Amino acid sequence: MSEVDELGELLELTRALHTHAVWQSDCGTVGLPRATEATWTERGVTAVAGSVEATERATLQSPAPQRPQALGAAPVPSAKAAQPREPSALSAPAVRPSPTGETLGAAPPRPPASIGPTEEAHRRLAVLASEVSGCTQCGLHARRKQTVFARGNGSSRLCFVGEGPGADEDEQGFPFVGKAGQLLDKMIQAMGLSRDEVYVCNIVKCRPPDNRKPEPTEIAACAPYLAEQLELIDPEVIVALGATAVEGLFGASGGITRMRGRWKTYKGVAVMPTFHPAYLLRNPAAKRDVWNDLQAVLRQMGRELPPKR
Ligand code: SF4
Repeated sequence: MSEVDELGELLELTRALHTHAVWQSDCGTVGLPRATEATWTERGVTAVAGSVEATERATLQSPAPQRPQALGAAPVPSAKAAQPREPSALSAPAVRPSPTGETLGAAPPRPPASIGPTEEAHRRLAVLASEVSGCTQCGLHARRKQTVFARGNGSSRLCFVGEGPGADEDEQGFPFVGKAGQLLDKMIQAMGLSRDEVYVCNIVKCRPPDNRKPEPTEIAACAPYLAEQLELIDPEVIVALGATAVEGLFGASGGITRMRGRWKTYKGVAVMPTFHPAYLLRNPAAKRDVWNDLQAVLRQMGRELPPKR
């Protein structure tokens, strides 16, 4: 390798490190401790940042008729969630595969090989974010102000995947920072988590003009970034926010009303499709369905449901 190549690689690594440091700083990190499973556990339901507005929480937690599949889904033990649990949480009901291969009623257990993110994975995430920042693989690059890679905790067991950046996200460089993002934060808080305890990203990393839905070719162009991103994060559960997120993960479109609340599997990771927060802003009554889906996610992860207020 020539001296010029070495300098180029050093420059790339320096940029990636800077990107990662800025990202961590924006997430409230004041140091860079080694990320471990214990970190998540210690920062679990007891470390709730702030309180949820009573009205929002009451709406999110309001009782509703529950889908038989979701209600029957007891948490399934996984390699990544190997912490001790209540005995009842370990007795999962029989999984009922559908003719299409979709798993109904309970998310499938994860392969035992999953060990969670490593320091190397975090380094590669930073490099990937740097690569994405210069991407011109599809036409969306032409009108973006900046790419929007992710926000949150790279060691999180829970990942939310949305559609694509809007105007606020394009401006600030982070996903879900507008009104829909504020509602997502309330949903996360209602789960007993803080916004910095989850990982949030989108199907496409550049803003579609006029906030239109990304074209299939744009989704396909950006798919390798998402695939590598999720592989590196290695979450236990993915929440797919809206039909486009489901389409981006599974390559098939369909009505989110039909798909939500039904577990799917992406490369061995349990996926819960639900409504996008932007839809909830237009249809507040659907919050009840979303809260049911998020409760199923908590059960799948072996976490206690927050008490009702
Ligand atoms: Fe590249 Fe994805 Fe942006 Fe298209 S949307 S230019 S594939 S980063």
